[in-house]
Amino acid sequence: MRALDGKVAIVTGSTSGIGLGIARALAAQGCAILLNGFGEAPMIARLRDRLADEHGVRVAYDGADMARPEQIAAMIEHATGELGRVDILVNNAGIQHVAPVHEFPLERWDAVIAVNLSAAFHAIRAALPQMLERNWGRIVNIASAHGLVASVHKSAYVAAKHGLVGLTKVVALETARTGVTCNAICPGWVSTPLVQKQIDDRAAREGVPVAEAKRALLAEKQPSQEFVTPEQIGALTVFLCSEAAAQIRGAALPVDGGWTAQ
Ligand code: NAD
Repeated sequence: MRALDGKVAIVTGSTSGIGLGIARALAAQGCAILLNGFGEAPMIARLRDRLADEHGVRVAYDGADMARPEQIAAMIEHATGELGRVDILVNNAGIQHVAPVHEFPLERWDAVIAVNLSAAFHAIRAALPQMLERNWGRIVNIASAHGLVASVHKSAYVAAKHGLVGLTKVVALETARTGVTCNAICPGWVSTPLVQKQIDDRAAREGVPVAEAKRALLAEKQPSQEFVTPEQIGALTVFLCSEAAAQIRGAALPVDGGWTAQ
């Protein structure tokens, strides 16, 4: 018996980075998975097959755009239809845009708020009723150190992630006397495509090698000077899905190499 045998999880934004790390960690505990996120069809087919083969679990895929509420509701229905239920919802899909607030493109503000904040509301709204019916569920929102503190030029991202931490607390309170829990994980820098773009932009802007831009990025914020790994975020997600974590409710847990201790 593995810890999550028989359970079904949706992990949004799981075709890359942290979401894929979380999907792998949950599958390794026996959980059936609905993958979501963008990518070429052959790459997604390979991910599905690999997860299913390595862990002997059912793996489905839904390409719902997390900026589209009706597609999010349809994704929850798809998971319930194909995999039978939704026990675990990991709201992970996220995007970034970096610009001073007075130059921030309106369309980018709307997109970051839609994908990083509103999508979690729509997914929770659609998935929570069946969790309450069975009196068991786990909702894990992937926020950020930027859900707890700010940085310049990230107005939309910081607003969305602070909002996500707030949403987490409300859902935790509304479910406090049930078997459903809701928590947020707040990672510091994790080496993924989302951060690689910021490193590459910094290297170009400052005219320095990529390795130096990477060191500077860590030195600025993360006292450990090491990246957090998707595997570490996956392991914490598995713990939050355990019975040992049943009384962790409404928490925003930093995994940030000391970033927010400063
Ligand atoms: P990533 O770019 O590697 O992966 C993002 C995933 O989201 C991909 O699967 C992508 O296809 C999907 N996605 C993007 N827009 C989508 C949309 N509209 N609909 C559906 N899927 C969409 O990024 P990552 O670094 O793994 O980030 C994952 C989450 O972790 C994000 O919420 C991010 O804000 C958060 N986070 C990342 C870091 C970091 O340092 N990488 C730190 C703190 C928090």
